[in-house]
Amino acid sequence: MNSVTECFGSMVFNDSVMRQRLPKEVFQQVQRSIIDGRRLDSAVATVVANAMKDWAIEKGATHFSHWFQPMTGITAEKHESFLSPIGGGRVIMEFSGKELIQGEPDASSFPSGGLRATFEARGYTAWDPTSYAFIKDGILCIPTAFCSYGGEALDKKTPLLRSMEAINRQGLRIIRLFGNSQVTSIKTTVGPEQEYFLIDREVFEKRKDLIYTGRTLFGARPPKGQELDDHYFGAIKPRVAAFMKELNEELWKLGVMAKTEHNEVAPGQHELAPIFTTTNIAADHNQLTMELMRKIAKKHNMVCLLHEKPFAGLNGSGKHNNWSICTNTGVNLLEPGETPYENAQFLLFLCAVIQAVDDYQDMLRISVASAANDHRLGANEAPPAVVSMYLGSELESILSAIENDTPHGGTKKEQIKVGVHVLPKFPRDTTDRNRTSPFAFTGNKFEFRMPGSSASISGVNVVLNTAVAESLRQYADILEKAEDFEAALHDLIRDVIRKHKRILFNGNGYDESWLREAEKRGLLNLPSTPDCAPYYLAPKNLELFTRHRVYSESEIRARYEIKLDSYCKVRRMEALTLLEMTRKEILPAASRYADSLAETALKRKQLLPQADCGFETELCEQIAALISAAYEKAKRLEANLASPPAGDSLRLAFFFRDQVLSLMEELRKDLDELERLTASDFWPLPTYGELLFSVND
Ligand code: ADP
Ligand code: MG
Repeated sequence: MNSVTECFGSMVFNDSVMRQRLPKEVFQQVQRSIIDGRRLDSAVATVVANAMKDWAIEKGATHFSHWFQPMTGITAEKHESFLSPIGGGRVIMEFSGKELIQGEPDASSFPSGGLRATFEARGYTAWDPTSYAFIKDGILCIPTAFCSYGGEALDKKTPLLRSMEAINRQGLRIIRLFGNSQVTSIKTTVGPEQEYFLIDREVFEKRKDLIYTGRTLFGARPPKGQELDDHYFGAIKPRVAAFMKELNEELWKLGVMAKTEHNEVAPGQHELAPIFTTTNIAADHNQLTMELMRKIAKKHNMVCLLHEKPFAGLNGSGKHNNWSICTNTGVNLLEPGETPYENAQFLLFLCAVIQAVDDYQDMLRISVASAANDHRLGANEAPPAVVSMYLGSELESILSAIENDTPHGGTKKEQIKVGVHVLPKFPRDTTDRNRTSPFAFTGNKFEFRMPGSSASISGVNVVLNTAVAESLRQYADILEKAEDFEAALHDLIRDVIRKHKRILFNGNGYDESWLREAEKRGLLNLPSTPDCAPYYLAPKNLELFTRHRVYSESEIRARYEIKLDSYCKVRRMEALTLLEMTRKEILPAASRYADSLAETALKRKQLLPQADCGFETELCEQIAALISAAYEKAKRLEANLASPPAGDSLRLAFFFRDQVLSLMEELRKDLDELERLTASDFWPLPTYGELLFSVND
């Protein structure tokens, strides 16, 4: 297979394969279930399963797997072969409709946040027919949702699908109010831009911190970092180019529309962006993308780091979540229209997003919170931990004209009556983009820039979809009752702008003064995971998710527990790794170096009693002092780790932040200083410079 068009989707059981291989009637039933999200009946499923199996075997597959996304944030699969005995020691290859539709993995080893305490250990996986089956490494993978037998979502896909239903329900009510009867469904679309680092495998393997935790826990600043901005969009090195080529080809085979690739700001940092697609598919594809990045990097003797902050002092990696809403007739509802009605509809959807981001800042912040992303947010290269929104000056001035009933426009200034007037055209802005905003309107979509590079995008989109569904629900309730639709619409939009404009901010989000201003406006500033986690359980948030049937209360509580639990586990692992490296590698190395300095000085004094030996003695003294200081801190860290507070998980998370992480950071300062002072021959670990510039050819 040579041409891209031929190779694209060659490992996917997509529409065109189904059209070829399924009887017409069955094909149409599958299509209908894809569009309306209805379950296939078992007779149809049997035919589909059979066709899928034949196709997969022709492509060399021997096994199938329900492919799902437990709350670990990564994907899970359990392979079953198609083999089925028929007696006489012989087998046939079989795959039933039942096996396609439902699987029963043991749920007991996946995080459940306590959901399992009340339910059986067993869980089941159910096919999501809207996301195509595909073949990966000889396995036919069937994208599935994963639930407990009580029906509780144990995964990331189920709530995402529910949130898409919620925004579909409420969005359709609004669309109907604008007199549109053709649209039968609306879906959100996402294009996630994925950032990552590539480093050479050999240096990676020498750093236990990278191996165990995905980030460097210490490391002195290299003489050259990203100051020259010479890496961003720079020429791609041959070895990286070879990796990208293979990655693209493998993604294309799986139907992932990898489109843009370039070098990012930090040395060794890169980005890949796909063409956007329906949200649940985008989430599946992003998981596949991360998996393939890791795998293919290894083949090229490199390691792909997806951690949000692998290196202190350099840019971290994020995953910009570009998000919009689209009708089944192909209209982007966040695209300003041509007629007064289209424009009014656009403004109303825009308001729905503004209100959603303001009302649910806390949930958006939670959706991106993790031990890893805490290092990145607010660190001068990523949005601060305060959620705000950027619309661009053009759009803001229109909103402010509506808000104040003041005239707007160029030569022919007039008052804007929503629903009556065509909006003045505003350019699809690419020029005055605000890269410091956490949530920016970019002409026909929003770009949420807080998500971290390693996280699943499901969580953020669950919040976005549901919060916007809630704004739309409130608007539909008002407008459906209105006697004068246009007047009610105008007033509604004006009121929403008045009430929620505090969330709009066009200035520099990285500036200190913004944090003070944000505080004055009453916006939340939640720097760390333990700070924001309690908002999960705020009554308004429980109300939001239960009202739209996205999460039950126990499902939210489970997620709250899992978030804190994983925060604590990560911090604990990091602390243990740092301690081990300090004791077994760093202090012994520094001590050996100090010894050798002392020995040299002694010998020299014996030989030349007048010799100064300033370098050796001073350095030996400094190193010895640092070793003692570091050793004391390591002991304190160890003591802290050994005595975690009793009580709930929130208390434990604060303990890890304040008594563990903070001490690790103090210890790190001594270690970095030791690294700066110790001769290269003695330093046992690759330095930042060696890691960052390890892929050079
Ligand atoms: P950048 O932010 O780097 O300038 P682009 O504007 O090219 O990037 O787009 C970034 C991402 O936004 C791409 O993945 C693209 O497919 C996605 N995107 C474009 N339109 C939409 C849309 N309507 N809905 C969701 N994502 C979109
Ligand atoms: Mg972007």
